[in-house]
Amino acid sequence: MKPAAACHLTLILLAALAGRLSAAEPISLGAELEVRPLASGVWLVVHRFPGECNSLLVQCDPNHFVWVDTPCTNEATQQVHQWLQRTFGAPDVIQINTGFHNDNLAGNGYLLAQGVPCYGSDLTPRLIAECWPKTVRKVLPYYERRPDKKYRDTLLSQKLVPPNKLYPLAEGLTLSIGSETIEVYFPGASHTVDNVIVYFRSRRLLYGGCMIKAIAARSPGFTGDADMAAWPHSVQKVLERYPAAHLVVPGHGPAGDLSLVRHTIDLCERHNKRNNL
Ligand SMILES: [Zn+2]
Repeated sequence: MKPAAACHLTLILLAALAGRLSAAEPISLGAELEVRPLASGVWLVVHRFPGECNSLLVQCDPNHFVWVDTPCTNEATQQVHQWLQRTFGAPDVIQINTGFHNDNLAGNGYLLAQGVPCYGSDLTPRLIAECWPKTVRKVLPYYERRPDKKYRDTLLSQKLVPPNKLYPLAEGLTLSIGSETIEVYFPGASHTVDNVIVYFRSRRLLYGGCMIKAIAARSPGFTGDADMAAWPHSVQKVLERYPAAHLVVPGHGPAGDLSLVRHTIDLCERHNKRNNL
């Protein structure tokens, strides 16, 4: 091989390697917002509000994305949606809310205005109307302690918009998109009484949302809306239904495997023992 050709080949290899490396690197969409490639066609969206709140993007076929949960504000949801439009040529998107808290659906207002259908259980709109104002009062002390008041102010001023595509909670929902089958499953009450999980069958990908804790979690976290007695039993049902799950995404913190599910059962049982539940 001539030196010039060898040099050219090296450049091609370097470019290919750089492309591969950058494909796996987080994409920053601002100081508090990041999109992290998790697997082929799967991205974890992390919104620091102020802790890490997850949502998940799955490319089911080249032109169809499923987005499970939203960032904690319409503004952050808009930034991610615009990145999606820029990067993938305006694909069709559907949103699935896994509960009534703002870390599940605060971006619905923006998404619905963009014509993105938002799926949610038939209990979720009622909980937004009847429980969310009480939830805000319960979590406010945590945000009041922070030096930056913008989280508190957002919490007090934001208006949560319910999903527009409702399904009966107890029945769940099954969607087929491209070659992917998506199951929305309610195993019983947990972190909230409407939390569901979303399972992507061909990817063996389980989005646990706020029902499932990260490995680093040392407690069940915010339990103000939880059914603590039911939570470990509900998670046990998830474990029994999806023993083949390969990748497990919690509502907050890094993804992992089924050990997150077992860890969550353990955390809830310890909590209940300590509190004589
Ligand atoms: Zn949460």
